[in-house]
Amino acid sequence: MLLLKLNAVLRGGEVEQKQSFTQRFQEAVNSSWIPRAALAHLPRLDNTKLIVDDGFRTNLESMGGGEVGYADDSGYEVVVAPTLAKKPERTLTHEFIHVLDGHDRVPFDEESIFRSKETAGLYRIFKGQVAGEAMNEAVVEHLTDSMWNGELDIIDPLSKVRKRAVYTIERSLLHTLAQKGVKKVNVRRFIAAHFEDQDQTEVFGKDSAQTKLVEALREAFPFANVIEELSELKTGETVKETHAAIQKYCMRLERRTNKYLALRVGGAVVAKLRGRTQAS
Ligand SMILES: [Zn+2]
Repeated sequence: MLLLKLNAVLRGGEVEQKQSFTQRFQEAVNSSWIPRAALAHLPRLDNTKLIVDDGFRTNLESMGGGEVGYADDSGYEVVVAPTLAKKPERTLTHEFIHVLDGHDRVPFDEESIFRSKETAGLYRIFKGQVAGEAMNEAVVEHLTDSMWNGELDIIDPLSKVRKRAVYTIERSLLHTLAQKGVKKVNVRRFIAAHFEDQDQTEVFGKDSAQTKLVEALREAFPFANVIEELSELKTGETVKETHAAIQKYCMRLERRTNKYLALRVGGAVVAKLRGRTQAS
């Protein structure tokens, strides 16, 4: 009975929820945070069913209290925790951004009505469950929080602007990759790759958003293949253990950047001194 009642609360506002999200999304496109091509994904919201569950699937506050399921472009399901039924907007922003992600065409699997997570968003670049899921959540949550609080370029999870955002460890990985290399990677590159469909990747080839992100990461971390290293991270026994592995990797990567920069500066000084000795 309770479930039916809660469902009614959200269902009444379903059209408005989708409309206000669409408006926010349009604004983000107009601000050049999201590529204009992503607007073509908006009709998917018409095939998205909103459900308030009993709290079993969505009880984790640290994960924002929402969940999304996809069945190709034909149908989507967004589940929201009952505690959020009266104020679901922020959680829905996060889940709708998942719904609008770019993905690869996959043959329809008769065993399951849902398309696999591995073919969506940044999972296509960062293979492996830990990195793939972490990068998808990081980008989706960072964009969600920016759509609510502004300041897209402030990625640091410790920043005051980001205090309401969830998926903190995942966002610290995005922060490290975007801002702790020898060169910064614009967060819009991660967002563009998230929304890019397989056909766009094929059409644009070396100019595709995914290719450009991979190249930018190579330039930011010339001393390592970060994509390959991250793809090898293993899932821990618990979420805490998985998070610890991500954190450890971030700290190590930052140390390696500092070492690389120190050696380069050191090398330049030595070369300059040598030049001077030769000249004298
Ligand atoms: Zn999510």
